[in-house]
Amino acid sequence: MNNTNKSTEKTEDATEQIVTRFAPSPTGFLHAGAYRTALFAYFVARKNNGKFLIRIEDTDRERSTKEFEENIFETMEWLALDYDGMEKQSDRVENHKMYLEKLIKEDKAYVSKETPVKEGDREEVIRFRNPNKVVTFTDLIRGDISVDTTDLGDFVIAKSINEPVFHLAVVVDDFEMGVNHVIRGEDHIPNTPRHILIMEAIGAPIPKFAHLPLVLSPDRTKFSKRKGALPLTVYRDKGYLPEALINYISMIGWNPGGEQDIFTKEEIINLFDITKVQKGGGIFDDVKLKWVNKEHMLKLSHDEYKNNLEKFMPEELVSLPTYSSRIDSVVDIVRDRLEYFKQIQEMDEEGDLAYFFKAPLYDREILLCAEKMRKGKDLNHESLAKILEICKAELEKLESNIWNKDSVKDTLWPIAESEGRGIVLWAIRVSLSGKEKSPDPFILSETLGKEETLKRIGEAESILKEKL
Ligand code: GLU
Repeated sequence: MNNTNKSTEKTEDATEQIVTRFAPSPTGFLHAGAYRTALFAYFVARKNNGKFLIRIEDTDRERSTKEFEENIFETMEWLALDYDGMEKQSDRVENHKMYLEKLIKEDKAYVSKETPVKEGDREEVIRFRNPNKVVTFTDLIRGDISVDTTDLGDFVIAKSINEPVFHLAVVVDDFEMGVNHVIRGEDHIPNTPRHILIMEAIGAPIPKFAHLPLVLSPDRTKFSKRKGALPLTVYRDKGYLPEALINYISMIGWNPGGEQDIFTKEEIINLFDITKVQKGGGIFDDVKLKWVNKEHMLKLSHDEYKNNLEKFMPEELVSLPTYSSRIDSVVDIVRDRLEYFKQIQEMDEEGDLAYFFKAPLYDREILLCAEKMRKGKDLNHESLAKILEICKAELEKLESNIWNKDSVKDTLWPIAESEGRGIVLWAIRVSLSGKEKSPDPFILSETLGKEETLKRIGEAESILKEKL
């Protein structure tokens, strides 16, 4: 009963190439928690010039679907997580069968007659003959873990010779694929002693284990769909950058120390240390992810940013004649604001985008709101129109070839000083954008150019002059 497991004590072959794997089950959309496992296995392999393999654990025929499986590959491709081999567990049933037969032959497993208790229970299953001993394994995160396997009894390893259960399949596959570092979620800790017993029975070396702590939602409860756990392709479709997701997810439960928050994939590979992963659960926080994404967006060159942004630009705006001459300055303006590229569509829905490319429809009420800002002074729509007229007249004099945000500001500033800064800036802003809030009106006038700026101010002026 108390033979300590000897094979975990064998001396390590320092020259052995590290082989890790990501073994997802395509029985649902995988969220950040699963991809963190993939990333950590990937980092360990890449950092050590090892191999990173994928195994799709699709033996649960009822729950595994093509859609979930495809989503895994799409996500791996999007994250650019290259792998050195891929297997599907369902293609390996013959191998599992071979080991089952061998175990039965050697009397390490046996066909067991059962008394079905509920529907679906088998009359016969294959059970592992448990040697009932203490198994000790080294977890790279938690240190040594010892478990007395006696309580497990002769556990089931197959429902029939052609239907191995997870415990047998995972052990045979890892052995045959040469996996020597098993990196997976801590929910598998209770399975590991069983796996070690099977490994010993089939003569497989005992790999190193790293059981990762759970990913939690911000309220420290299970990270579930209801708590915002999404397939990562949702982030791709919203125009998040894959590097940002890699960066953010890698820092859930691990960090390289120091002040730096933003890393490339290559930097993380260099810094990664599986033994420094924390033992407690890590939190997935959407707000922090957005911040990390924005930081990665800001690292893009103008052209890279533009290429990404244009994938999400509303077609209706792209087809306008003004589009190509203004898009570059729109890129410069939105760069400070967007947290993911699809937000450009939200900007459009809020009415904060179209005015860059086409004249707004003015709301006379908004224009007149300026009056309220002029405390203690007599201002009505006529006097406001007059201010716009003065602005327009001064701007007319500014040569087109020196028209930019600074020269426009220099031109309008004396008027703002005499008529009231709030009033003048408000009136120009609303004239150019039709909105109460917009980017700096001087920047906007540079984007629009002289002709369009004067046209819009003129239009606002005439609306103010309309007799209601
Ligand atoms: N297919 C298992 C899961 O999705 C992983 C098994 C393993 O990593 O050993 O939880």
